[in-house]
Amino acid sequence: KKMIYYFGKTRTEGTGVSKSILGGKGANLAEMTSIGLPVPPGFTITTEVCGDYYANGGKMPAALMADVKTNVETLEKELSKKFGDDKNPLLLSVRSGAAVSMPGMMNTILNLGLNDVSTAGLAKATSNERFAYDAYRRLINMFGDVVMGVDHEHFEEAFDAIKKKYKTEEDTQVPAEGLKELCDAYKALYKKETGEDFPQDPIKQLEKAVEAVFKSWMTNKAVKYREIEGIRGLLGTAVNCQSMVYGNMGDDSGTGVAFTRNPNTGENKFFGEFLINAQGEDVVAGIRTPQPTEEMSKWNDPVYQELMAIKTKLETHYSEMQDIEFTIEKGTLYMLQTRTGKRTGMAAVKIACDMVEEKLITEKEAVLRVPAGDLTQLLLPSFDTAAWAKAEKIAKGLPASPGAAVGKLAFTAEDAKARALKGEKVILIRKETSPEDVDGMHAAAGILTSTGGMTSHAAVVARGWGRCCIAGAAGVKIDAKNKTAVISGKTYGEGDELSINGTSGEVAEGSIATQPALLSGDFAKLMVWADKFRTLKVRTNADSPEDSARAREFGAEGIGLCRTEHMFFGGDRTLAIRQMIVANDEATRRTALAKLLPFQREDFIGIFTAMNGLPVTVRLLDPPLHEFVPHDEKGQAELAKELGVSAADIKARVDSLHEFNPMLGHRGCRLSITYPEILEMQVTAIVEAAIECTLKKIDAIPEIMIPLVGTEAELKLLRRKTEETIEAVKKAKNFTGKLDILIGTMIEVPRAALTADEIAGQADFFSFGTNDLTQMTFGFSRDDINSFLPDYLSQDILLVDPFQSLDTSGVGQLVEIACKKGRSIKDKLKLGICGEHGGDPASVQFCHTVGLDYVSCSPFRVPIARLAAAQAAL
Ligand code: ADP
Ligand code: MG
Ligand code: MG
Repeated sequence: KKMIYYFGKTRTEGTGVSKSILGGKGANLAEMTSIGLPVPPGFTITTEVCGDYYANGGKMPAALMADVKTNVETLEKELSKKFGDDKNPLLLSVRSGAAVSMPGMMNTILNLGLNDVSTAGLAKATSNERFAYDAYRRLINMFGDVVMGVDHEHFEEAFDAIKKKYKTEEDTQVPAEGLKELCDAYKALYKKETGEDFPQDPIKQLEKAVEAVFKSWMTNKAVKYREIEGIRGLLGTAVNCQSMVYGNMGDDSGTGVAFTRNPNTGENKFFGEFLINAQGEDVVAGIRTPQPTEEMSKWNDPVYQELMAIKTKLETHYSEMQDIEFTIEKGTLYMLQTRTGKRTGMAAVKIACDMVEEKLITEKEAVLRVPAGDLTQLLLPSFDTAAWAKAEKIAKGLPASPGAAVGKLAFTAEDAKARALKGEKVILIRKETSPEDVDGMHAAAGILTSTGGMTSHAAVVARGWGRCCIAGAAGVKIDAKNKTAVISGKTYGEGDELSINGTSGEVAEGSIATQPALLSGDFAKLMVWADKFRTLKVRTNADSPEDSARAREFGAEGIGLCRTEHMFFGGDRTLAIRQMIVANDEATRRTALAKLLPFQREDFIGIFTAMNGLPVTVRLLDPPLHEFVPHDEKGQAELAKELGVSAADIKARVDSLHEFNPMLGHRGCRLSITYPEILEMQVTAIVEAAIECTLKKIDAIPEIMIPLVGTEAELKLLRRKTEETIEAVKKAKNFTGKLDILIGTMIEVPRAALTADEIAGQADFFSFGTNDLTQMTFGFSRDDINSFLPDYLSQDILLVDPFQSLDTSGVGQLVEIACKKGRSIKDKLKLGICGEHGGDPASVQFCHTVGLDYVSCSPFRVPIARLAAAQAAL
């Protein structure tokens, strides 16, 4: 197996070799060399060697150092310098570089090859004694620190002593004499701390440095970083040994870093910083303030022009925005690194569109290049980047629903609603939210909860509206009774303002400036391309005309899930539903339902109108009834008064609704089986609304969806009742026009998936309710998962939260079975998904693969799903 790949004028072996072997840095150094860019020559030890090192129990492979020596000899010949020479020494940098960039995993060692003899040689060759001893002291320091684990502090102290002696505060003001003394002090220090002399043999130095890079692969911080970033399956890190160039040889030298385009906005303008008379890490270390690269032309125009030419060459070669590192030695430019530049969602869209315009990439490539999830950043207002960076963060929770919100604290939903009505901006801050809070949640600028996960009530509802939300901020201690919250040891009340960042999950004190969403021409352009390539349709989950309209603007092709329960909240509706629930007989129930009917009808008319010409899937009542009634004494007393019954009666009825596992209890289609009059009322409202719309020439296309079905018999019964009701309404309204209403079911109980061939006989469509399906397949309560999910993730038992990204091998198998079985009975059976997964790019890919007709997701995720669907198809 080839262990080392050389790059330089003599030969370049790594061209086209994959990053998994050479690491990102090594592969790109070879690539840049091969297209003729000025790269200091060197060689790359492969990631496989690092893998072997660990396979051997931490032993350097036998033949490695001989191979290293051969490559050093090639370098010596190519550069006419000699490793450890007393006249013109070759120096090397030793740089780590895995296939995936892992910033800060290991410090680079520079100036390797210096010893007492070659430092004198370097001083002679450069006629610059100060420079040579400065390089030597840097090496002893870095080598001691990185390779031998000597505390950097010790070196600092020794340096301070020298600076004191020479009466200066600046490193750069210490004369050559002082640096010579410093090198001696460092060597003594090195011996004291390690028990060994600083190695004078350059090859020995190199061997130890290479091994240190291998070791850095398994340090705690590296392991943790890979864990957090979900980086798996890499062999190890490569080691790049590269001849040194010097940016610290005087005012005609320097070093810098840059992006070929602006990584924040995407603007096609070179964007970077450089520092005159500096080496490597000086730029990042922040010891001196670098200058913007625009200033470079004033300093050395030919070098600047060369850099611009290289920028163009790199972008043409990679067809991608690059992030580069360069050094200028006495007016000569060298390239030290290039890689694909990280960028914001906004920049990703602009760069992709610009590059199509510039004919660097095709429309297909542009669609594939923008990470679908990053579109979120374009759709919502966000905090001003600089202002947010400066703000002090006082708490952190889950980024449950992205965006930025600023407001004063409201501790109850009623307060939030009342104060918002008066025009105040509020943040609703609660331990958790429940369906009773939806009014207040809708009125709030943002929602902050101290418990609950990514699929908690607050999170799901907030995402649906594109309302900014942080869930499960455990550090926030809320005292709802006294309307105060303790965060980071400080108490906040109703008059206090917070800024919450739903994109990062962070909370800051006070009001941080925001910037509005920019749905620029580029965004629209990218969406048009995406629509051209995708086959999967994208619908939305919406239950109000406003959300429907917004989703349409974002490109929704219908509603895949209209939840009717949210329509039962607010004023008279709440009272009517409660009256229905506490009723002891059917007649009272029907009276109460009759009051709800007009509200539901109006709601549906609004939604059908907003969705004119597009299908609207309405789900019949799903949640358990206890969610609609008050559980506290005061609330029950009030309700008793309003309904003219005794408080004891109310309490008895509420108590009787208590269930140990409500999510597995009396809900979904089970409600309609016990109380068919609920189904009758809802279907009547839907059909009456559709008829009214049709008469007004609005094209209403309702689809009725029955939730939580587990057996064919359930659906058969409810389908019959639904059909009977539809016919009854048509007859009552004397309606003879065309109105075809599909009747289908959600597949969210595992049994339904397994018997989908039976159920399909009763269904015109299936919609996978993957929230419940995930919950019932894993047996994880989605409201309680947060108490153990972190342990599952950190121990790799789960790789992702299955409520966020569909578990394709388990839950997905049920989806696949249901699709196959369903279509074996009806080959045209319409299939969709309406769980939270419908807006998750990886899950969308899966939906495409199993052949669903559409995905449905919250309005703000519609563009993400459109792009993800296109990427799945390409
Ligand atoms: P990181 O991956 O942390 O960026 P690098 O391996 O890129 O680490 O090295 C950090 C810096 O060290 C580089 O940006 C460059 O300025 C300097 N450096 C690395 N190799 C050389 C070299 N051969 N000559 C001069 N400077 C170098
Ligand atoms: Mg670098
Ligand atoms: Mg469900």
